[in-house]
Amino acid sequence: ELMARVRTHLKISYYQNALAQKNKELRQANETLLESKKQIERAARTDSLTQLLNRREMMNCIRQEHIRLKRSGRPFALALSDIDNFKQFNDRFGHDCGDSVLVSVSRIMRSAIRKQDLLARWGGEEFLFVFPETDLGGGKTVCEKIRESIANHVYEYKGRNLSVTMTFGVSLVPDHHKPIRDHIRNADTALYRGKQQGKNCVKTFAQ
Ligand code: GH3
Ligand code: MG
Ligand code: MG
Repeated sequence: ELMARVRTHLKISYYQNALAQKNKELRQANETLLESKKQIERAARTDSLTQLLNRREMMNCIRQEHIRLKRSGRPFALALSDIDNFKQFNDRFGHDCGDSVLVSVSRIMRSAIRKQDLLARWGGEEFLFVFPETDLGGGKTVCEKIRESIANHVYEYKGRNLSVTMTFGVSLVPDHHKPIRDHIRNADTALYRGKQQGKNCVKTFAQ
């Protein structure tokens, strides 16, 4: 009787230990899976070169901002910016040089904006900003500040010093009546005007 009981308890103890070990392994596997999920979600939202938001994520954020505007009635500003004569960096020094300019410019732009502002890589060398609760004048001021930081920065690539400039087009989203693409088109119209008028400048779209 005693031997049988001891044997049973030994068995129980063995299975309890085995179960605890399995639980530990499962917890670790779960943590790894959660971390991978986070990485995949982050990758789906960001541009891999610049680490800025990608176009799809930016559209989601702007839709949210548009909904907030409907409730709060507080306008927000949009800005499109485009690197001037960017093609020359690729053509003269290679594609890697172009990539490195994109990374540097992105870093400068991100550090110049506030936490609540949004910034995305919109296309090749084109970026879109959202400045919540900001009017057209405020949007112009912040873009002017960013334009200046970029123009004053000395970029180094393989021992060469390069200078980079950008042109900006700013538009206001005054209410929720028009679709957001209309306001992005307005920012693009202002940007185009800036390119035509000599680049390295900030233009606003007058409604
Ligand atoms: P503008 O001042 O009128 O904007 O002239 P630009 O040379 O900047 O504009 P253009 O549209 O002629 O050239 C843009 C170039 O950007 C062409 C394209 O090959 C390059 N490009 C787009 N995406 C990338 C990228 O991810 N890396 C690199 N290195 N180049 C890119
Ligand atoms: Mg360009
Ligand atoms: Mg362009």
